[in-house]
Amino acid sequence: MFLGKLGRAVLGALLLVTLALAGAPAATAAPAPEAPSTAAVVLTYDASGAAEFTSAVHAGAQVWNASVSNVELRPVQSGQQANIRVYADNGWPRAYTSRLGNGYWYMGRQAVNEGYDTIRIAAHEFGHLLGLPDVKPGPCSSLMSGSSAGVSCTNRYPNAQERAAVERRFG
Ligand SMILES: [Zn+2]
Repeated sequence: MFLGKLGRAVLGALLLVTLALAGAPAATAAPAPEAPSTAAVVLTYDASGAAEFTSAVHAGAQVWNASVSNVELRPVQSGQQANIRVYADNGWPRAYTSRLGNGYWYMGRQAVNEGYDTIRIAAHEFGHLLGLPDVKPGPCSSLMSGSSAGVSCTNRYPNAQERAAVERRFG
């Protein structure tokens, strides 16, 4: 009886270890297992720190999903670690990339308060995480021209060159 319980306990522990090992690779940035037929790299993002800009962050991700096919930005599931984390603070919008597709960015209230378009900001900062540098000064037709296009610029979409650059990086 006692040995039987112990045996079951040991077996249970081994099963847990096996499950933990099997589950570990899912945390990395890999193509979505439920969509094996597509070539898109899936990057998850966590907008839970974006405060009042949460919907703008989702909209900025959708801009990219509608613009390129080799990478997809997808909201992270609760309890999972995201490739990209998004925060809000009172500074200027800015991005920090640890490696392609991974890092974090800030939706800065300073730019929003000056009148810059929140979705353009979000798409621009996601653009940095997708490997694009600033192109400043630049026209409104360029997403990566950022604030240099002026406060009246509400274009949220990358131009052909910016789309092509992201496709190449994730192709
Ligand atoms: Zn920028």
